[in-house]
Amino acid sequence: MKPQTIGNIVVSKLIEDIHPFDTMTGLPDAEPEAFAANKEWLAPHLYDFAADTLLLSFHTFIVQTPQHTILVDTCIGNDKERPWSEIWHHRSGPYLDQMTAMGVAPEDVDYVMCTHLHADHVGWNTRLLDGRWVPTFPNAKYIFSRRDYDHYQATDPDDHSHNAFRDSVLPVVEAGQAVMIDDDFSIDDTVTILPTPGHTPGHYCVRLRSNGEEAILTGDLMHFGVQVARPDWSAVFCVDRAASAATRKSFVDAYAESDVLIMPAHFPGPTCGHIVGGGGGTWFRLKT
Ligand SMILES: [Zn+2]
Repeated sequence: MKPQTIGNIVVSKLIEDIHPFDTMTGLPDAEPEAFAANKEWLAPHLYDFAADTLLLSFHTFIVQTPQHTILVDTCIGNDKERPWSEIWHHRSGPYLDQMTAMGVAPEDVDYVMCTHLHADHVGWNTRLLDGRWVPTFPNAKYIFSRRDYDHYQATDPDDHSHNAFRDSVLPVVEAGQAVMIDDDFSIDDTVTILPTPGHTPGHYCVRLRSNGEEAILTGDLMHFGVQVARPDWSAVFCVDRAASAATRKSFVDAYAESDVLIMPAHFPGPTCGHIVGGGGGTWFRLKT
């Protein structure tokens, strides 16, 4: 994805990793023939037809407004204890160096917005320093949904997401850098949230508006391109798959044929684009 301008705001993408994901594991309701029917727009970026697998990108959106530097979702992180995933466990990747090379040092970040509190959206919230997890971005306020916080605080200590809660959310709260939000939050008149529960109880999208232009950073409202055509298919990672499907359906209906730039958290390649509607159903036109 090339950096995108929305009025006076610039959004860049910092990729931490991209990996394939088994189709029927990722989307348990999927009908394999539906992929072929949507091949024209899914190929080559939004589905790997050669390997017949889904593709998941893990990236942070760096949002630069005239006043603020904001990170939306902080990927997987280094050194995290994630024994259930070979790719996530004890990573040591160059994410922070890449961010610095993009002109953003950790101390430059004013806000970290986590669309929800899953391990692949909170990882770089913290880093390991002398055996302790400390906030990676010392001057940032971290914007957490209170409903997600309550939900993951109450999960079983052995739960995958509780693990991430312990090392990537709690240390931020203990450092006094967390801001807990409900359904309303704005940084200024250009950056607000859109509550989109289902994937997690407190999931939110980030809405950017500037000079008559608009973009929505959709987090895990959808994981895979095909879900624009089939919003009824929820990913295996959703806490409430029925609620996730209902939220996604109304979102796709609301933004089909609009000029709003849609920026999902896991689409690879050009990543952002527009929802196209019409008689033949809905699909996603990547902005290449
Ligand atoms: Zn995710």
